[in-house]
Amino acid sequence: MAPRLTLRELRDKSISELRTVGPSLGERLGAMGIDTVLDLLEHYPRRYHDRTNTTEIAALAVDEQATVAGAVKKVSVRRPRKGRPIVEMEVYDGTSYLKLTFFNQEYRARIGEGTEVSVFGKVDLYRGRRQMVNPAIDVLDTVAEPTTGVLLPVYPQSGKAGVNSWEIRKVAAELLKRTEQRGFADPLDDDLRRAQHLVDRTTAYTNIHRPETIADAATARARLTFDEFLRMQVGLIARKRALERDRSGIEHRIDGALSPAFLAGLPFPLTGDQERVIAEIMADMGAAAPMHRLLQGEVGSGKTVVALTALLVAVQGGHQGAFMAPTEVLAEQHELTMRTLLEGLRVPEEGSLLGERPVGVALLTNRTSAAERRRIAEGLRGGQIDILVGTHALIYEGVEFVNLGLVVIDEQHRFGVEQRDLLRGKGNEPDVLVMTATPIPRTAAMLIYGDLDKSELRTLPAGRSPITTEVVGPSALERVAVYERLRHEVAAGRQAYVVCPLVEGSTKLEAKAATEEYDRLGREELAGLRLGLLHGQMPSADKEAVMRSFRAGEIDALVATTVIEVGVDVPNATVMIVEDADRFGLLQLHQLRGRIGRGEHRSWCYLLADPSTAEGRARLEAMRASTDGFELAERDLEIRGAGEVFGERQSGFSDLKLGRLPRDEPVVIAARAVAEALLENDPGLERHEQLREEVEDLLGDAVEFLFKS
Ligand code: ADP
Ligand code: MG
Repeated sequence: MAPRLTLRELRDKSISELRTVGPSLGERLGAMGIDTVLDLLEHYPRRYHDRTNTTEIAALAVDEQATVAGAVKKVSVRRPRKGRPIVEMEVYDGTSYLKLTFFNQEYRARIGEGTEVSVFGKVDLYRGRRQMVNPAIDVLDTVAEPTTGVLLPVYPQSGKAGVNSWEIRKVAAELLKRTEQRGFADPLDDDLRRAQHLVDRTTAYTNIHRPETIADAATARARLTFDEFLRMQVGLIARKRALERDRSGIEHRIDGALSPAFLAGLPFPLTGDQERVIAEIMADMGAAAPMHRLLQGEVGSGKTVVALTALLVAVQGGHQGAFMAPTEVLAEQHELTMRTLLEGLRVPEEGSLLGERPVGVALLTNRTSAAERRRIAEGLRGGQIDILVGTHALIYEGVEFVNLGLVVIDEQHRFGVEQRDLLRGKGNEPDVLVMTATPIPRTAAMLIYGDLDKSELRTLPAGRSPITTEVVGPSALERVAVYERLRHEVAAGRQAYVVCPLVEGSTKLEAKAATEEYDRLGREELAGLRLGLLHGQMPSADKEAVMRSFRAGEIDALVATTVIEVGVDVPNATVMIVEDADRFGLLQLHQLRGRIGRGEHRSWCYLLADPSTAEGRARLEAMRASTDGFELAERDLEIRGAGEVFGERQSGFSDLKLGRLPRDEPVVIAARAVAEALLENDPGLERHEQLREEVEDLLGDAVEFLFKS
């Protein structure tokens, strides 16, 4: 008997080898990204049309939402002289006729007479007849190839590529028939499958494409989703294990004088969390295995102090540190903070007059002048620069360290893994600390940071006070109360932020809007107060000057764009007004709000909004109900889904065809446990040839070193 089919075999077969795929269909499938038989196998139905779960047309009531199924009897296109083409269709299901009207969807006319369709929509009345306007319509079958069975798979189709669901169904049917004899090789053995309550692969692939019942489709889906997450977790854990085995890292001097001197000079005691996390990082840095650690902590939880301590541990052993932030403003602010915190701290320097010098900090962004770049290059080479702070400009060619010992990457999920590796490559196995202020739900973290160790700052430093958040509608009356509160707080000696609308992709327009709002507020609602303006288009020196006077209390209310999102720290500010708050993402609002509630006084956050979508309303309601970053992150994931939250290019998510977070969280957890057990017992996956092959195909060339035992 021929061996069972592996996914690699199917990956190496072109779909044109299928009898049902002629040159035209082959080309059109190719335009949809379906080139190999494996692509086709993994092109899963979007849903299943249940032939028994339809309403008879004769029984349709006006205003009802319903699915009907029937044959297309008449198709016509009208082209009014003004306006767009209208396609009209009659559908007959044996009980009665229903009229369908499609506006501006001329391609619908390609659905031929006699085609069997499923139609979902709302029934309305037009000139005394029932009709559906712009319903969802799926072609179930052509008369030429009638199908049987209660459930019909409905595939993601492509109007652009001109591929219909029924065409894919036909090709998938051939694929299933041709693979029936050999069946599919299963990377999971029977015991494991039973323990996880999963069906075998052959059953799973058959039932996802051709289920007899919805329950069959669901168990098939469960199995294939598990496989997706298992492959990812095996890859990530194998990477983590390979890194741990590595003995080529730097054993940093954790008993040096610099880091204790820094901590002793802080104006506050560390929180218990900070102490614990610093100890975890020190242990890693002192060890021979390169550190790969994620530091997760709420806005304001005190990550900067932790990162700076780690950087000084590197510096005190004669190494350099790099600190990469996602935006210029952030890099600037971090550099400023570091300079302030490092004031007075000195490192030994042989041959100099005093035998010591200040800790050398420099800033490198795209705006850094050529002369300054040369100075930085020299300082890096000569070793006078101990810590280089910057944006992704740090990873450019030409930035060379003599002795890079630690890489800190802030807000990692805006960077890809490749960028992490590029910066790491500037040293000889430097330690890596990734920081994020975006709370990441546990399972999502398993996917994105599955190869990193984790540290967490949960408690905020003492002395934070509660924030009341209100969503304020567009009515003038409601808004008056908001500005009254602001004036009241200012009268009591407090300060405020007014955050101006986000203009996606244009800091220029954003700056313009902020400037106009600053002028308007100065004339109207906030007349008589001392206002300041801050936006991304201002020269750095001006920005710094404004921030300085705000900190000094010389400005009552700061009208700003999102440049204040992270890093601005003025405990006396107790009011924040966010205009057009529905334009911001949930976590962005959370970060913005983190600018208030930092002192001893109670704070207020007003979200001015008139949300037009359910999603917008859900975001604002979540903000009103919670100030807990982790809770908000979970909500964000529910509202938007993981692909949106973490970006398509984020490792892993684009490889998921079925898996979705947070829906499949339990599957991620189970798959991770299985992956750990498998690699524990069989680190080289020598007894799991099939699984190993699939993980290798998922990860590509980068995988070579992973499975060495
Ligand atoms: P994050 O980077 O995590 O958002 P920061 O490091 O900017 O937070 O810290 C926020 C503020 O809290 C800063 O002003 C910082 O100086 C202060 N801070 C940090 N640690 C402590 C502490 N242990 N006690 C009091 N204040 C602290
Ligand atoms: Mg180390």
